[in-house]
Amino acid sequence: MKSSLIPIIGLEVHFELKTKSKMFCSCPVDHFQKKANTQVCPVCLGLPGAQPVPNQQAIDKTILFAQVFDSSIDGKFMFDRKNYYYPDLPKGYQISQHFNTIGKGGGVIILEQGKFVSISLQDIHLEEDTAKLIHRGDYSLVDYNRSGVPLVEIVSMPNIHSPLQAKEYLKRIRQVARWLDISDCDMEKGSMRLEANISLSKDKNVLPKYKVEIKNLNSFRYVEKALEYEIERQSKLLEKGEVPIQETRGFDSSTGKTYSQRSKEEAKDYRYFPEPDIPPFDFTDKKISLPKKWRPPWEEEKIIIDKYKLDWKYAKILSANKKLLSFFKEAVNVGKSKIEAKIIANVIINKKISWKKNSPKQLVDKILKEKKGEIEGVSLEKIIKKVIKENPSAVQDYKSGKIQVIGFLIGQVQREAKGKAQVKQAQDLLARMLS
Ligand SMILES: [Zn+2]
Repeated sequence: MKSSLIPIIGLEVHFELKTKSKMFCSCPVDHFQKKANTQVCPVCLGLPGAQPVPNQQAIDKTILFAQVFDSSIDGKFMFDRKNYYYPDLPKGYQISQHFNTIGKGGGVIILEQGKFVSISLQDIHLEEDTAKLIHRGDYSLVDYNRSGVPLVEIVSMPNIHSPLQAKEYLKRIRQVARWLDISDCDMEKGSMRLEANISLSKDKNVLPKYKVEIKNLNSFRYVEKALEYEIERQSKLLEKGEVPIQETRGFDSSTGKTYSQRSKEEAKDYRYFPEPDIPPFDFTDKKISLPKKWRPPWEEEKIIIDKYKLDWKYAKILSANKKLLSFFKEAVNVGKSKIEAKIIANVIINKKISWKKNSPKQLVDKILKEKKGEIEGVSLEKIIKKVIKENPSAVQDYKSGKIQVIGFLIGQVQREAKGKAQVKQAQDLLARMLS
């Protein structure tokens, strides 16, 4: 990559909300591996005359999620029609948000190589999922079970500047959704989907005239790989004085390369207009609060770094999983004044003692017991030193090959330790000290 060119990356993330029913009808949302077209009704089949009724639970969960990122929620929002024709969209339009979204602006704070970096957001909005196409040779089947499932979309500003930043940003979004328990964000099940756009610029504040969109990215690793590939591809073109074509590209995970799919549609092609069947919302007086003592993951990371004095890498590992984080915090609390937080963190991270099989107190007790064992080990060493010093001829015999004399020496150690030494431990130590 030419060092003077800066990647300008924007990301669009979708995840399906864990709600009881779909976005605009009462069909269930759980469509994974269900018999095709069994969870449908006139609304999600897009039949003429069917009226959408917005799902309150989905709206509340989106508001909750948007709050974490300080997205401005003024309580006024509406739904709009995004018009395009595709076989997975029976109405010929998708009900989405365009003019007045639930969350406007905001920022996602990532921990990148020890530094906290904020990635600005354009908006956080709610829409309905499309049906699923199943391609079979020269024909395709449509499963409408997924049609109408509530989908949250998070649109970043184009202010991500490296593939690593992109990956951290995505991890953060998934982490928050999981911590709030509003989505499982399972990419294998398709409940989280990713799209990236990228161009290269000499100045990070100047947007280039072109933009390449990448689709079919079904893992964070693929996003990183696809962006790395694009940086190289676009750099080569720009160095030759060519401008990359504005287009949509797919990603082939087997080659690690992106490939041209089609030239990009402009936003205006969707002919957005307000959804006439759903009046605008005014939730100005409605309050939806985060659970008590709930902190965003970056604040938890700051606590681990500042209060517990641990390295940022520890902070990342310990806060990757909400259960692990609360286990760690409780263990630190239980072990207070007896064990340093760092020791507890090390034991957990190096899997010396399983945190899944023990309670925080059990873990702390086990660490303390081991610590005590070490002190006993040190006393034992003193005793052995004394025995070695007081029995030079036995030591000489041992060193000249009469290893059976070790039995006598252990006996001396036991006598000194008043029978409290562990034989195996004493044998090992003695053998080591005599070698
Ligand atoms: Zn339905």
